[in-house]
Amino acid sequence: MYKLRSKHIAQRLLLSMIIIIFSLLFLSVPLIISSYQNYQKADRALIEISALRAVADLANQVSRERAPANKVMSSAPDELAENLKALHAHRKEVDLQIERTLKILEAAGFSAQVQGLSSHLKVTLHHGRQAVDAYAGLPQSERTSKQLDHAIQQMFKAWDSCHEILKNVLVQSEAKSTSVSEYYTLILILADLRDQAGRIVSNIIPSITFVEKIPADNLARSLQTQHQAYYLWDLVNTLQPEQAKTPEYLALHQQVKAQFLDQGIPIVTRLINESMHSQAYSLTGTQLTEAMVDKLVTVVNLQNYIFDYSVSVAQNQKNQAQQQFILTLLVAIICLVTACFTMIYARNGVFKPLLKAKNTILRLAQHKITDYEDSSADPITLLEAIKKLKRVLQQRDALEFQLRNIANTDTLTGVSNRLALDEYIKYLEKKPEKFAQTALIIFDIDDFKHVNDTFGHIIGDEVIRLVAEKLQVNVRNSDLIIRYGGDEFLVLIEQADFDDAWVVANKILKEIGSSELYIAEINQNIQISVSAGVAVGAASWMALLEKADKSLFQAKENGKNKVAG
Ligand code: GH3
Ligand code: MG
Repeated sequence: MYKLRSKHIAQRLLLSMIIIIFSLLFLSVPLIISSYQNYQKADRALIEISALRAVADLANQVSRERAPANKVMSSAPDELAENLKALHAHRKEVDLQIERTLKILEAAGFSAQVQGLSSHLKVTLHHGRQAVDAYAGLPQSERTSKQLDHAIQQMFKAWDSCHEILKNVLVQSEAKSTSVSEYYTLILILADLRDQAGRIVSNIIPSITFVEKIPADNLARSLQTQHQAYYLWDLVNTLQPEQAKTPEYLALHQQVKAQFLDQGIPIVTRLINESMHSQAYSLTGTQLTEAMVDKLVTVVNLQNYIFDYSVSVAQNQKNQAQQQFILTLLVAIICLVTACFTMIYARNGVFKPLLKAKNTILRLAQHKITDYEDSSADPITLLEAIKKLKRVLQQRDALEFQLRNIANTDTLTGVSNRLALDEYIKYLEKKPEKFAQTALIIFDIDDFKHVNDTFGHIIGDEVIRLVAEKLQVNVRNSDLIIRYGGDEFLVLIEQADFDDAWVVANKILKEIGSSELYIAEINQNIQISVSAGVAVGAASWMALLEKADKSLFQAKENGKNKVAG
């Protein structure tokens, strides 16, 4: 049988505490780590979105620079100064955006893209600007549409480097595996769409500016970019996430369709038709640029909205991940603290008191006055200590019972003595209603002095014993027989009425009267008799005793060997 030895309790308690704590750690640490990783991922997604946005903004601005550049290059001499001012202002903005983007990419850890931006974009943009400036610096008479086209193509290259960086940021993005990734694709497509839209115009602008027929090559490029724009628009419609289709998104989407696709492209188509039919162009180069600029803004607006939306999605995810992380951490800490508290409480509140109780029990069982010195080497269990105490208590009960019996028993007859009667009276007095239902019979041996005188005290004792025996066999075990005086006995019967007591008394009288006691010394039988007084129902013990005593007196008066009540 498993025994809870005191020397093992501390060890086992410590072991279970370690097991519980390790189990909790085993369960909670991976949860904490994974929720923290989710939080970091969401945080990273936000950082990456801001980097992506910076590059996308830069790409749009580089793309948009072509508008003031085209304007400068197709300016009439009187508009040139103003258009140049606008171009330089825009270039300044682009340069600032480049610096801002560099810092953001650096902070987000996109070092390869930082490199690409510094070495490639800056160089291509510089070349593009040089080509624009070189063209703008030419006297009107020396300018040709080819030179203009060349300058425009150079500016396309700057955007191409930007697009490359944008693509690489997306490829390297860690968040591309999260739910915000679907917005990334849309952002990239819209950046492309914005540029293709610009190129539709840029490819025909040299011919419009010089009022020449559009060369086949430029025509082909313009038509190709138109197709490309429609294709990208179809992709936007296919890929747009359902949850992002808010009323605001739908309004912006509608604007792109209405202004750019339905109004902007037909302007270009009209000019191409005019070229093909050798008709006069309905717009100048500058007018064409101005007419298209607003329409391209709709694409950038839609892109910005998706950026804002993906930021809010990522921010939400970050908040949720943060809450989950804090919650997981809190629950784990609460579990651990509770486990430790329970263990300590069990140790101090349960096991230690149990050990103390065991020691106290042992001390009690061994009747030691001084404190029982327990040691961890003590081989006694609590149950064993209780058993030990139980044995000691049982022995003491048995001894006490014997002592009480001895004290309460009449040594001559073995029936109860007056000490026992006193106890019984005390018990009765606590329940006075019992007097009413208790019958008392007093028996007194008739002419006992004569027995003593005739046969001596030893024979007299025999007679007393004989009477006691007759009483014992004629009453129930639950009834009380007391030797009250020398030859006087009381019989107390609970729950008895007068008739019951009367019957009992007469029966006993008859038995004793009909029995004979053989005395060997004198070789003869002695015949004895008793008288009995019966009393039932009284307010107190004294009243009951007096009543029975009077009855006995009456029985004696009536000639002895009689019952009176
Ligand atoms: P009555 O019929 O009126 O009762 O007459 P009695 O002779 O029996 O008178 P009583 O009951 O007064 O006498 C009791 C006697 O019992 C007195 C005493 O000597 C005797 N006696 C008392 N205790 C003992 C005892 O323990 N042993 C013996 N042998 N005699 C005792
Ligand atoms: Mg007598």
